[in-house]
Amino acid sequence: MNIQKYSLAELQRIDSTHFLHPFTDHKDLRAKGARMIVRGEGPFIYDAEGNEILDGMAGLWCLNVGYGREELADAASAQMRELPFYNSFFKCTTPAPVQLSAKLAELAPPNMNQVFYGSSGSEANDTALRLVRHYWALEGKPEKNIVISRNYGYHGSTIAGASLGGMPDMHKQLGGAVPNIVHVMAPYAFDLALPGESDHDFGLRAARAVEDAILAAGADKVAAFIGEPVMGAGGVKIPPASYWPEVQRICEKYDILLMLDEVITGYGRTGEWFAATTFGIKADTITTAKALTSGYQPLSALFVGDRIAETLVEKGGEFYHGYTYAGHPVCCAVAIKNLEIIESEGLVERVRSETGPYLSEQLGKRLGGHPLVGETRSVGLMAAIEIVKDKKTRARFQPGGSAATLVRDHAIAGGLMVRVVDDTIIMAPPLIWTWETIDLACDRLVAALDLAEATLASKR
Ligand code: PLP
Repeated sequence: MNIQKYSLAELQRIDSTHFLHPFTDHKDLRAKGARMIVRGEGPFIYDAEGNEILDGMAGLWCLNVGYGREELADAASAQMRELPFYNSFFKCTTPAPVQLSAKLAELAPPNMNQVFYGSSGSEANDTALRLVRHYWALEGKPEKNIVISRNYGYHGSTIAGASLGGMPDMHKQLGGAVPNIVHVMAPYAFDLALPGESDHDFGLRAARAVEDAILAAGADKVAAFIGEPVMGAGGVKIPPASYWPEVQRICEKYDILLMLDEVITGYGRTGEWFAATTFGIKADTITTAKALTSGYQPLSALFVGDRIAETLVEKGGEFYHGYTYAGHPVCCAVAIKNLEIIESEGLVERVRSETGPYLSEQLGKRLGGHPLVGETRSVGLMAAIEIVKDKKTRARFQPGGSAATLVRDHAIAGGLMVRVVDDTIIMAPPLIWTWETIDLACDRLVAALDLAEATLASKR
């Protein structure tokens, strides 16, 4: 679209007249107008007013290789010219998803050798939910269909995704969630650990909430447990090291399938190709999307572990589920090229051994002592900064979320895009960030915190 034809004000007016944005208070948007992003290059985005903003959110947790990658545009263009689309129903296939599937099986944990494609993380989780229930039905146990999930979890915005997620505001608008999904506490030590409770003990207690839910329902009624290795949209909640091994032990003890949602953590964000490796988790399904194409095309891949895949094949019978665009050749061609870039530039290793540790160190060193900061935490290039009124007691400013929102607004105005969840500032930048980019982000975060502190100090 030639935006030169329109003034920014006109574009904003048309936007609010015709475009219903996701997760938006439309009354509020209409009053203020949307921020118009018009271009991206490397780690930066540019708005219609010409401001250069360092993108601390990688688009929306997805642009792992950064903006302006000609190779990805070329891959899409070549595939569109050759074969823009053909479906993968009715025993048909096309070369791009075949090649991508082989590559994914090579990168994934050893028991993951099959993928089911969709266009979004939400769709992939819908597939995952149907698949685990179908698995137990094929195994002759259709009554084993409860899925245990967690408060603060985010698994997408379709009815299945929102039902799996642990966001009460979303549940309220569902008009009835998908049945047989129960939620347990999150491994969020900063807010939920008891006074004096060690991280280790808190992690075990949070994991045992899963066991309590299994025992309450009866193990013969529980199909699976689902969780993000690190909760993303819920506020980059990183579990204590004791949490995942205990969840794994519990799932194995009661023969409960373990579903991982790696829509955010997949493809390098935590310093391994998959956070399953970072946390040593052996899963039965892994949901991925976003960074699979670095967001250049909409594509999701649900990894289906050998246990489920073998039952599907051996027992046979049609699985009545799938999407028109499953294995879309253009999206898959872009994904292949994107994985090639991540590999050839060593981005995963760089996050693991250089930029991840450096981000963690710099956040602690430069922000940790700030009067507004209760905690900084990160894993790979995924970080959170807790904004508090009182560092000792961890009391928050009121109304909840207002202080972090103030910091965020100053950060964006100062040239750093970050996001806010309640009173937590979160970041998940492209994996191309260097030490210099991290320094620049920290400069801008410190400036934003100082500006916010100037307003908030009087409210203590
Ligand atoms: N799962 C997780 C962990 C996510 O973070 C998201 C989106 O942010 C989703 C699922 C849903 O993905 P999508 O928005 O592509 O449907």
